[in-house]
Amino acid sequence: MLNLQVGTIVHLRKRHPCGCEEWEILRTGVDIRLKCCGCGRVILIPREKFLRSLKTKRTPGHT
Ligand SMILES: [Zn+2]
Repeated sequence: MLNLQVGTIVHLRKRHPCGCEEWEILRTGVDIRLKCCGCGRVILIPREKFLRSLKTKRTPGHT
């Protein structure tokens, strides 16, 4: 079971045009709101598409 929490940094297979592939989860639900860690751009993608492109995630405070 994938536990998506606001504030989690995730890596997506599809990287942002700015070159960064790290995204911060801002909101979860039917759609996932993500903020690019490189340029700060915020996007909204369907949960299904998000889960398919998810590579790794790390939770702040956990190693
Ligand atoms: Zn970016």
